[in-house]
Amino acid sequence: MEISCSVCTENIGTLQTATCHYCGNKFHQPKVDTSHVNCGRVMSLGEMLAIAYICHSCLKETEE
Ligand SMILES: [Zn+2]
Ligand SMILES: [Zn+2]
Repeated sequence: MEISCSVCTENIGTLQTATCHYCGNKFHQPKVDTSHVNCGRVMSLGEMLAIAYICHSCLKETEE
């Protein structure tokens, strides 16, 4: 099953994906720092030391 990235709309394929904490869409998020496209970032959730992924679309909204 093919999955499209919600940020760049390209097929994610075998690249590592993450699910956005806010919109629930999948996007490119390699866990290792590579030259692969990265359409979001990891953010920490307060004091729980939990991490969540957030896509670039939602990042823009939270920054404005
Ligand atoms: Zn992407
Ligand atoms: Zn999102």
